[in-house]
Amino acid sequence: MIRTVLPGYEQHIRRLPLSSSRPSDRLVWLPQKNGKYSVRSGYGLSVSETIPERQRNFNWQKNIWKLQTVPKVKQFLWRAVVEAFPVGVELVRRGIQVDFACKICGNPETITHVLRDCQLARKVWNLAPLRTQSHLNTVLCLDFLAHILSMVSLPPIEVSTTSLPAWICWNLWTPRNHRIFSDTTYSAYEIITKAICDARAWQEAQSSLRKPQSPQVVTSPPPTLSVICNVDAAWHADSGHCGLGFTFRPLEEDWPLQHSASPLISVVDAGYASLQVRSDSQTLMNLLNSQDTHTEIHAIVNDIRLLALSFSLISFIFVPCTDNVEADTLAKDALRALLYHIE
Ligand SMILES: [Zn+2]
Repeated sequence: MIRTVLPGYEQHIRRLPLSSSRPSDRLVWLPQKNGKYSVRSGYGLSVSETIPERQRNFNWQKNIWKLQTVPKVKQFLWRAVVEAFPVGVELVRRGIQVDFACKICGNPETITHVLRDCQLARKVWNLAPLRTQSHLNTVLCLDFLAHILSMVSLPPIEVSTTSLPAWICWNLWTPRNHRIFSDTTYSAYEIITKAICDARAWQEAQSSLRKPQSPQVVTSPPPTLSVICNVDAAWHADSGHCGLGFTFRPLEEDWPLQHSASPLISVVDAGYASLQVRSDSQTLMNLLNSQDTHTEIHAIVNDIRLLALSFSLISFIFVPCTDNVEADTLAKDALRALLYHIE
């Protein structure tokens, strides 16, 4: 049937993990990781076709929304990326009869021109105390912004916790408006000084707003679990094979499970009713600690939840990779042995 209906997907379908408990079928919404429909994801899908690919691939969170600066500057940068400013070239493109030339140098005025190519902008960037000052000749404003916003400010300017390039962009834009609407001009030196002052003022305001750190209170003592299980998996994409690694560490001295072929089942059979499972997969641990449905590993999550019922106390805890090295090595060894055996 798969070959008849979806011949191109046979390999992918056969690789889908099936649940041994055979849960009932359910509808899932693929654009959401948890499989549930949300208006936000539906809207995102409907507009995604109309947004140019370059903008879709732009890292909005890193380059703009998570920048340490004021919301007005973030919104300004967002408008620069989508080129939504009433600059000369843009106004003419929309049929408005205005002079499209830059008031400083006479070249066509685009947002990229104001922020990068204008002789005034070039002088300002040359004065900027940033780690690299290479002039990037990209066509699109978003590439230029992605490049300059990643630059860090050099000492002794001391604006390490805010984005100086973002403040420079903002201070290149506002004088442009003063020039047009109130005929006031600023030098490159005045602009860079104002950008640094703004950045410093914002940074100082943040540090005074920061609440004193209260000592961390441990609300619950570590549970007296009998067994700690670290788990990891290694995956070979081409063949679809997977290696698993488990380590079991008992709290008690007397440990009867060594050399067991099925350690997890042995844990249950030996009467260990409590287990702490540790993995460096944040997604899986979050899923197991919530009631969400993951579209791709729904069957496996379901099986794990059923198996978890065998324990009177079980917890799933995320640990960083560095605390999961043994399980990781075992998983990789298992995968290597499996691939070697198949070859
Ligand atoms: Zn210019």
